[in-house]
Amino acid sequence: MTQCPECDAAVENPTMIPGEVFPCPDCGTELEVTGKNPFTVELAPQEAEDWGE
Ligand SMILES: [Zn+2]
Repeated sequence: MTQCPECDAAVENPTMIPGEVFPCPDCGTELEVTGKNPFTVELAPQEAEDWGE
């Protein structure tokens, strides 16, 4: 079973394809699909365009 790297919730989602980003259903952290078989996810890169003005 694949788990959210942030909160360890199960994040099986067979309709996702590698490269897609989706929020963890439990903690809302953005996760990026990195593998289909087996299904794997990583923390998605954070967009931080509004920083440092
Ligand atoms: Zn989570």
